[in-house]
Amino acid sequence: MTGIFIFGGIIILIFSFRNKMLVGYQQVEIKTAALRSKVLPVPTVYTDILNKYFYYYQKLSDADRREFEQRLMYFLLTKKFIPRNFKEVTNEMKVTIAATAVQLTFGLPAIYFLHFKRILIYPDDYYSNITKQYHRGEVNPAFGIIVLSWRSFVDGFINPTNALNLGLHEMAHALRLENMVRNEQFGFLDEDALEKLNEYAYTVCHDPEKSFQFFRAYACTNEHEFFSVAVENFFERPIDFRNNLPALYETMVILLKQDPIKLLKYE
Ligand SMILES: [Zn+2]
Repeated sequence: MTGIFIFGGIIILIFSFRNKMLVGYQQVEIKTAALRSKVLPVPTVYTDILNKYFYYYQKLSDADRREFEQRLMYFLLTKKFIPRNFKEVTNEMKVTIAATAVQLTFGLPAIYFLHFKRILIYPDDYYSNITKQYHRGEVNPAFGIIVLSWRSFVDGFINPTNALNLGLHEMAHALRLENMVRNEQFGFLDEDALEKLNEYAYTVCHDPEKSFQFFRAYACTNEHEFFSVAVENFFERPIDFRNNLPALYETMVILLKQDPIKLLKYE
């Protein structure tokens, strides 16, 4: 009997040691990612994917592309991609998801969503037992995870001008949350611009002249959804956005420190 207890105790010890080792290893991985992303060559399979699918990257200058690749590498080195209900996360999945995060934060000092360490991918929209509904994606700050339906991610991605982009939408949620979580990456978004954005969210959503109709109705669910929908419009139809809601567009430029109209050479 005592033998069983001792044996059980040893097993528990081994497991807790193993867990500590894994956590420690992950910390080292994250700590060294900055250096490794600078010195490791970017695999051509990654740049091939960017050249084939990623419009934003293709529009950048040579120097900005190098910067983009380095940020992409850093993101990939610090995240764990987990497949759900399918076998293996492909390079296409990793690179396009990481590239979406880099696109959104490209104007800011290097932001890597450090609070979000895991990205869960479902092949299609998934059923949540909590909400009893099908979901396309979500960001869960309590568990530090970003969840995406690959089918919906691709849908958002293949049409780059319809202002529907699940990847950008969810990354925008993650960005706002990362800005609030007290870690080494926090408080990087301009406070005044954020406040202005929230004011616009209110006035646009309560405008009797219905200027909010430029955005899909979902934007007016709350401030967080407003920001995410604004991000989708900002990158996918920036000229229409600026024409319809110029002050809000300008606030987005200040907040994200980039202007897609100039960057993507729409004019
Ligand atoms: Zn949302």
